[in-house]
Amino acid sequence: MEQLKNYIREDLLDVRPYESARHEFTGTANVWLDANENPLATDYNRYPDPFQSDLKAVISGLKNIPTERLFLGNGSDEVLDLILRLTCQPYKDTVAALDPSYGMYEVLATLNALNYRKIALNERFEWNIDAVKAQLEGVKVFFICRPNNPTGNLFPLDDLRTLLQQFKGVLVVDEAYIDFCPEASAAALVAGFPNLVVVQTLSKAYGMAGLRIGMAIARPEWVAALNAIKPPYNISSLTQQTALELLRSSDWSTIRANIIRERERLEAALKASSKVTKVFPSEANFILFRIPQASAVYNYLTEQGIVVRNRSSQFNCADTLRITVGTAEENTRFINALNNY
Ligand SMILES: *Cc1c(COP(=O)(O)O)cnc(C)c1O
Repeated sequence: MEQLKNYIREDLLDVRPYESARHEFTGTANVWLDANENPLATDYNRYPDPFQSDLKAVISGLKNIPTERLFLGNGSDEVLDLILRLTCQPYKDTVAALDPSYGMYEVLATLNALNYRKIALNERFEWNIDAVKAQLEGVKVFFICRPNNPTGNLFPLDDLRTLLQQFKGVLVVDEAYIDFCPEASAAALVAGFPNLVVVQTLSKAYGMAGLRIGMAIARPEWVAALNAIKPPYNISSLTQQTALELLRSSDWSTIRANIIRERERLEAALKASSKVTKVFPSEANFILFRIPQASAVYNYLTEQGIVVRNRSSQFNCADTLRITVGTAEENTRFINALNNY
């Protein structure tokens, strides 16, 4: 892990991972008496594959990313937490994120006893890259969510390249929604930058939020370092098997295309509404829009049985609601309710 010595905690540079029975012997055998499992012959009496090889092989094929650049976690929330634990020294280091952005970054910073710096976006939720750079002094990890949640916009790949060349810390690019615009992924930059970790998930475009599978995409030395600190069996056999079957059996590009088509229909309806004053452009499966008295509109919608997210308390987000793209029928119910408000 010598290549990572500028980025990971000194005391974790040569940490000895927990050696489970399944680490020590991985070949074929008929009699498994090494892990204190119950010999009961059910589907789940054995510990899962700690490195999720079969699942990684399928994800690798789908996303065209070599398996040695894939690390899997129990949701990307676990991946983000492990990245902080690996890189930052508690009660000392500082992490940064854009504002507004995903609320989990601040929670994870707090849980890891880290200082948290917010870097403001402008009113259109864009950044000025020079202003961003000026605020990264002393920052160990910088989270960039692209497309950004809750705003839906995508920060340019060229700006990321500039940052990666100049920033001394680790850039964590959270691409939870990138599958809705896959050509723009920063995963293609991973090979060239030792300070880049891209995080993706099966929770959004792959419809598996309930299974909890997130991933880091980074150079193999990062994968090895994360493997060394993760809980040994962080993804259950049932989860690995179910995800494999779903990834193989569903037509994900059609599912994605339908969501994007529905997003465009919702966007058109919001723009046509006389009550909506601003519809923010989105590259994701949700849309942020501004509507006067958003909290009253929110309450009205819940009375109609429709729940959206009120983001009005976020920075620069006064009177905004975020709507997730649902089925055609759900979206139509929302549009009708809005038009009757
Ligand atoms: C939904 C979301 C995630 C996904 O989290 P999981 O733990 O993988 O379900 C990650 N980052 C952002 C910004 C999100 O909105």
